[in-house]
Amino acid sequence: MISGLPRSAKYGIIIGIGIPGLLFLLGITSYVFSSVRKYHRRRHERVGTSSGVLRVTIAPPSPFVMGLNRPTIESYPKTMLGASRRLPKASDNTCPICLCEYEAEETLRTIPECNHYFHVNCIDEWLKVNGTCPLCRNCPEGSA
Ligand SMILES: [Zn+2]
Ligand SMILES: [Zn+2]
Repeated sequence: MISGLPRSAKYGIIIGIGIPGLLFLLGITSYVFSSVRKYHRRRHERVGTSSGVLRVTIAPPSPFVMGLNRPTIESYPKTMLGASRRLPKASDNTCPICLCEYEAEETLRTIPECNHYFHVNCIDEWLKVNGTCPLCRNCPEGSA
């Protein structure tokens, strides 16, 4: 007969099987709940909590940048404007990029292929993205 077991042994069995089973059930339910919650959260804000779901993708500037790299841009000749604001090669005295007139003692950069002048800051930003002269777009020399 099973009832031959002492009362304490029965309690032992209940505790030994019941409590781990209960914990196991709790674990499963909380796991299911948290994954459901995570799923919803991911749908809403794409930023998870515990595991490595924190994958906020910062878009790279642009995968297909056709611009020039820094050393190439730096290799283009710079011209420091004197107080007379006279360009070495007489041409427009406005920057074609920002449409501002060149001020005295500003630094300009020349594109060697076409001898066009721009503000250093303007043309640097431009060349980083484009790589061609904004005025003539890589025109061969002398067509301007
Ligand atoms: Zn400019
Ligand atoms: Zn040009």
